[in-house]
Amino acid sequence: MISGSAQEHTEIALSWYAELMENSPIGIFFTDADGNCFQVNKTWCEIAGISPEQAKGRGWVDAIHHDDHERVETLWYESAKNNQPFHAEYRFCTPQGKITWVVGHATAKLNKDRNLEGYIGTISDIDKFKKTAVELEKSSARIRTIIAHMPVMLFAFDHHGLLCNWNHEAVRISGYAASELIGNPKAMTLLCPDPHYRRMMQDAYKQLGDDYRNLEWQLTAKDGSIKTILFSNIAKYYPIDGWANWGVGVDVTLSRRTEHNLRERVKELNCLYKLSILSNQPNLDLESFLQEAVELLPESWQYPEATSARIIYEGKILRTESFAVSPWKLASDIIVRGEKTGAIEIYYSEERPSASEGPFLIEERLLLDEVSLQISRIISQELDKRDLALFEEVNAKADQLENFSHTISHDLKTPLTAIGGYAEFLGKQLQQGKLDQAQLCTDQIVENTRRMERRLDEILRLAKIGRLIEPSEEVDLQSIIEETLQMVARKLDDAHIEVEVAKSFPKVVGDSIRLQEVIENLVENAIRYIGEEPNKIIISYHMQGPETVFYVKDNGIGIDPQDFSRIFELFKRKVKTVDGEGVGLAITKSIIEAHGGRLWVESKGEGTGSCFFFTLGQVIEGQTG
Ligand code: ADP
Repeated sequence: MISGSAQEHTEIALSWYAELMENSPIGIFFTDADGNCFQVNKTWCEIAGISPEQAKGRGWVDAIHHDDHERVETLWYESAKNNQPFHAEYRFCTPQGKITWVVGHATAKLNKDRNLEGYIGTISDIDKFKKTAVELEKSSARIRTIIAHMPVMLFAFDHHGLLCNWNHEAVRISGYAASELIGNPKAMTLLCPDPHYRRMMQDAYKQLGDDYRNLEWQLTAKDGSIKTILFSNIAKYYPIDGWANWGVGVDVTLSRRTEHNLRERVKELNCLYKLSILSNQPNLDLESFLQEAVELLPESWQYPEATSARIIYEGKILRTESFAVSPWKLASDIIVRGEKTGAIEIYYSEERPSASEGPFLIEERLLLDEVSLQISRIISQELDKRDLALFEEVNAKADQLENFSHTISHDLKTPLTAIGGYAEFLGKQLQQGKLDQAQLCTDQIVENTRRMERRLDEILRLAKIGRLIEPSEEVDLQSIIEETLQMVARKLDDAHIEVEVAKSFPKVVGDSIRLQEVIENLVENAIRYIGEEPNKIIISYHMQGPETVFYVKDNGIGIDPQDFSRIFELFKRKVKTVDGEGVGLAITKSIIEAHGGRLWVESKGEGTGSCFFFTLGQVIEGQTG
């Protein structure tokens, strides 16, 4: 408790005020009614960087930062005019250039008669706050700029379900300005006009909530183009004040289109690759090749489910299973040896968006032309192969004909020379009246003439074989063999030959009379060229890969491997002890070849038996021996 008189108390208070003013952490200044300073405290002087003397009068104004002068003076004037306290943030600048932000207050001081006496003002150093605020503002401006301009769409919805954020990238991709969508209840209808798709996406969103990444969405831009956006919404983990949810979207339209185009190109390349594999498949006839080729086509087109195709070639039409003609057609010609011989046609069963050629892409046109080119090339190669085979066959026939004529001339020459010799001798014998000798000559002439006749008959028979083959029919080889064995039953008995025949034979296609001749010739030979007892003939067949090989095997005198090919030539015989003309095997060979088959012999040499094998062009499968 302070004791003393009121005056003493007033004095104490005044000295305390003076001390308080001097030591206050706030700058304090007093001015008269005109704004002339008459007192400042220590803190004020520290902030302003000038002495109390320098601050006096209008001196304090100079301590205010040059750039803030005008503003502070205007505000001061305004406050004074309106009888309001002055309040402003501004800068002081010391003569050394140190700048300090302050918040300044000043209140008018009125005397008893309510006339303005002057002002009491304070300044508080807010430099730190101000600088922090400036930094904060700078950093939030940076963040705002990043968010606004980053090449990622940023969207946010408020608690009423309305769009409340739509950044520059979102504007760029959608074509809609922020002002058109923000707060617009129809925003989603604009961005997703197809109601069915919109509902589907809304359902997906309901299921996922605010926790999904890379949800693919087809956004409809303002110009009607469709953009593929990958949306992510992780608002569940990072909620933002004032936003019900938010997310980002990345435009992947271009990469999706590139991916799609790449997939299409892969399909096309695959088609060409499969076509080349197909063309290298052995034993594939042209028609089967074209059928398999046409089936390759639909899957290489953009809409395989609506694609059918056909290949027209030389009157034949090969088509895909559900082929149907329609107005949406793409065609390319098959050109073989410079002439149009067919076409490949692709049809869409339903209308599809228009592209470079109707609904077809330029790449599909190029693919079809390439496929036509490949198919044309393969057909040409096939024709070349056929021509070559024909040429080789004609050549072989010409060779055969030449051999044949040599054989004929040689074999006819022998009896003819004999006839000539005997005729000359006959003349001499007649002149000498030797009738007995003349008769012998005549007999020889007759015999050689008959021999010539027989040979000529055989030659004619052989020459006719190609033409004598009857149109092909199904032939029961089993019955032919049985009939033949019955015919030669006696001979078999006489020679004590045992015959073993397969239980059944596959049916074959050919001329039954000619095929019977084959079996007869081979069985007859097996009997004629039989060896020492016990004698056995086996008639059977086996499979050699896909081929059925029939055979007649004996354990007879055998054949020297050196003679394997000669015995099939006309009039070529090896065994003189057995009667024969040397014609049977030549005829058998011709018949087998006319049936598209081969005839050959195997033997380990003389005394080891022989086995004659033959194949036929057409064997009906399904039976085993
Ligand atoms: P041919 O029997 O009238 O001489 P082929 O053309 O039937 O005429 O036979 C030609 C030759 O092949 C025969 O002369 C014989 O040397 C030989 N040959 C044919 N079949 C047999 C066989 N089963 N075993 C041994 N040699 C055979």
